Amino acid sequence: MAAPMTDAHRRFLQILMSNGITEGSEARKLHQHCCEIDKVYYAHDKLDDFISTINSHLQPLFMQIRKGFSEDDGRAHYVVVNLVETEVTRMASDYTELELELFRRIMDLIILSENGFASSTDILNLADQLKTKKMKKKEAEQVLKVFVEDKWLSEKNGEYTLHTRCIVDMEQYILSHYQDVARKCYICHSLAIQSQVCESCGIAMHLPCVRKYFRGQTEPRCPKCNEFWSCDTPGVSRMGS
Ligand SMILES: [Zn+2]
Ligand SMILES: [Zn+2]
Repeated sequence: MAAPMTDAHRRFLQILMSNGITEGSEARKLHQHCCEIDKVYYAHDKLDDFISTINSHLQPLFMQIRKGFSEDDGRAHYVVVNLVETEVTRMASDYTELELELFRRIMDLIILSENGFASSTDILNLADQLKTKKMKKKEAEQVLKVFVEDKWLSEKNGEYTLHTRCIVDMEQYILSHYQDVARKCYICHSLAIQSQVCESCGIAMHLPCVRKYFRGQTEPRCPKCNEFWSCDTPGVSRMGS
């Protein structure tokens, strides 16, 4: 039998759902806050247990609080995921059919790209190729902004990639829908959108995984084929350098 849900669990879940995505340290603070308000036993190192209690009650509803990691800095994040809707339709209540088509096309661009990014120019060029109906560039610009605000996309210097929220939420969908092109990280085995790829054997690694893996090594070599790792590895401090 799973431990019963308390008001603290329910409060925590509600806030997580309305946040869309919650960063790890934020979730720890929230855990403490909810337990204090509802006068429930609190231990700072018991967040995982607290969440797994919630998850056991969410299971019959085909929902789950899932933990994932930012591809930029490797920090943990939590997202409430709906296990039934495995497609972009989970966004359907918030967007029009036309906007969803644009989102799918943007996902194609990002996932089929070399580095996990699509430029705003390429994205805006999609606007008049949509099948549902053409979209004005101005309108597409506006929708793009909303995708970023809603944390489905994130933007860096005019280039767009999938937000951590989107990756955690849609990982299974992306892995099955883009079976032949979606890459998995050789180190942590999760979906890798922004990644470095070995020039010799083609394995992919997330940047935070690259940093962790090469830390303290004299020379960066591919963990699979042992060839020299030719990508830049910023933030890696190596012995003797
Ligand atoms: Zn990884
Ligand atoms: Zn290799």
